[in-house]
Amino acid sequence: MKKTLFTALAVAALAFASPARAQQSVSYQVSFENAVHHEATVIATFKGVQTPVLEVRMARSSPGRYALHEFAKNVYSVQITDGKGKTLTPNRPNLHQWNVSGHDGTVTVKYTLFADHPDGTYAGVSPTHAHLNAPATFMYAHGLEKAPIQVSFTPPAGKNWTAATQLKKETAPLTFSAPDFQYFMDSPVELADLKWREWTVQEKGRTQKIRIGMHHSGTDQELDEYTQRAKRITQEAQAVFGELPAFDFGEYTFIACYLPGTPGDGMEHRNSTVITSSRSLQTGMNPNLSTLSHEFFHAWNVERIRPKSLEPFNFADANMSGELWLAEGFTSYYGTLLLERAGVTSSADYLQNAGYPILAVMVSPGKEYFSPVEMSQQAPFVDASRSVDATNRTNTYISYYTYGNAIAIGLDFTLRTKFKNLTLDDYMRLLWQRHGKPEQPYTLPDLEKALADLTKDPAFAQDFFKRHIYGKEMIPYEALARQMGLALQQSPNAVIGWEGLKFQNDQATIAQGTFANSPLYKAGLDRDDVLLTLDGQKLTDQKTLDSLLAKHKPGDQVQVEVMQQGTKKTVSLTLAQDPAVKLVPLEQVDKKVPKDAKARREAWLSKKA
Ligand SMILES: [Zn+2]
Ligand SMILES: [Zn+2]
Repeated sequence: MKKTLFTALAVAALAFASPARAQQSVSYQVSFENAVHHEATVIATFKGVQTPVLEVRMARSSPGRYALHEFAKNVYSVQITDGKGKTLTPNRPNLHQWNVSGHDGTVTVKYTLFADHPDGTYAGVSPTHAHLNAPATFMYAHGLEKAPIQVSFTPPAGKNWTAATQLKKETAPLTFSAPDFQYFMDSPVELADLKWREWTVQEKGRTQKIRIGMHHSGTDQELDEYTQRAKRITQEAQAVFGELPAFDFGEYTFIACYLPGTPGDGMEHRNSTVITSSRSLQTGMNPNLSTLSHEFFHAWNVERIRPKSLEPFNFADANMSGELWLAEGFTSYYGTLLLERAGVTSSADYLQNAGYPILAVMVSPGKEYFSPVEMSQQAPFVDASRSVDATNRTNTYISYYTYGNAIAIGLDFTLRTKFKNLTLDDYMRLLWQRHGKPEQPYTLPDLEKALADLTKDPAFAQDFFKRHIYGKEMIPYEALARQMGLALQQSPNAVIGWEGLKFQNDQATIAQGTFANSPLYKAGLDRDDVLLTLDGQKLTDQKTLDSLLAKHKPGDQVQVEVMQQGTKKTVSLTLAQDPAVKLVPLEQVDKKVPKDAKARREAWLSKKA
């Protein structure tokens, strides 16, 4: 994905070394004759093939989404010919590969793609749009990774589609190019009757364009309002790093699809992002902008400040990275913080949600099992991964998004309170300078070194990484919050646990595996066990349960009648204190708020652009 400079050098070298190889090229023609039934026709032509056997493949993974997807499952009616139109019969060495021999240097593969999941990872074709994530759509050829690529689209008859994409626009209608395979696979396309907005950003002697290509059924006024807010968010992101990245073709594109029924998603790319949701701008303006904010931050963090473990991205296997607590977690932290700094959400709204990652890490037994690095490495098991058999992740896992978000807030508070005039923004800017321009993929030791250099305190950096990144120790949030003019406000309520319950037929079913530290677990209850009564009262709904619990204190014992695998029994359950904590201004719990703490809080939340 991150190959711009490298590609330029490689192409130059090829031009001198081997004129024959310079003629390698890949082109795709895509049409939508049966869009109503979610089919696309793709014709891929590979030229300048020099090996006797051309290995044509469908990807198994997609950048930014870590599970294996086996995109070959939606490909059929494969027809292969050579440059003269002679039919070739491929060998199938595995699920996702077609080995083609007997060709004349040109191989054309025509196939049908079924596509009915228009989000950041998959593809969706219908009469209203074609939303194509490249790895889910395009066969590629092993050995032609450096060849330039051209793609052209033919919309269904009568459709006035334009295309939102980071691919380079060519002169022919709906025709685009990419310098190589890695860039092409990083470039999704949405073809639809799009509404467009754009603005330019001038800085450091260059002018760049930011565009929104939106497929939605809302009004132009709503899109104008969305655009104004999006602009302020991008300015706040720019302020963190001190500049925009130099986008490859001087342009960044938000590829938005907000039609009803669209799966909610966001997926970062070098010079664009896919942002999809079934929420309209009328009902979901700010939640949709929250995704936009997160994804735009990725233009620096993960797209250019890139972990070495993801370079180059392997489309033929799962990609494991121990750095997603930073790549995703820190991005999650800034995604919502920048919304607040941009004035899209209020400080009060922001604070209400900002404490959630801290709460999640505090409550989750998972932190006893794996460090944030090890949590990150499990992404292929959890990110868009569906398994038939249950897992014990309730007890052994914390999402690297959540864990990393909690580390970001903890490190930001630590820098702001322990060091004069240092913030997490400074750390991100240093990472940008060291690893983003030019792009030098980083390792975990690089991250620790940057923290040591920023703080001029290597012992602190080593200790922080040892405890909280490689280790499993909680950051002291309570004390840090007070120094930031904030408090972690606890709930005094008694609870039976913190698992999800499903109320139906006057009873409550435990909807997930129970947490090892929760009263339900300790009472011997687990997923799918049915709670019939508490204190002899039927559990008809959450309100009834809450009112029963309101009569108790944490530590009280209650009798719960349950149905467990067909057997009715009564268990004695010791109520716990609700672990929920909220991040609130210190004024709400304490009259005396030190001036410096209040100043830190205000500096943290204030507009930077
Ligand atoms: Zn769309
Ligand atoms: Zn992300």
